[in-house]
Amino acid sequence: MRPIVDEEKCIGCGNCAEICPSVFQLIDDKSRVIDPDGCDYAHCCEAAEENCPVEAITLED
Ligand code: SF4
Repeated sequence: MRPIVDEEKCIGCGNCAEICPSVFQLIDDKSRVIDPDGCDYAHCCEAAEENCPVEAITLED
């Protein structure tokens, strides 16, 4: 699955980058997807999606 961050919604809390640092990184207080395939096997991007307080992360097949 490939994660997408809605930068309009993102409040820069850092949850996603903490949970799934191989995919998400905070740059200028916004989450960026640095490697969309970074957790194909670990599924940590699903946990990041669930723990985003503003539902800014979506996962595409
Ligand atoms: S968890 Fe959501 S609000 Fe927090 S940095 Fe990531 S995308 Fe932004």
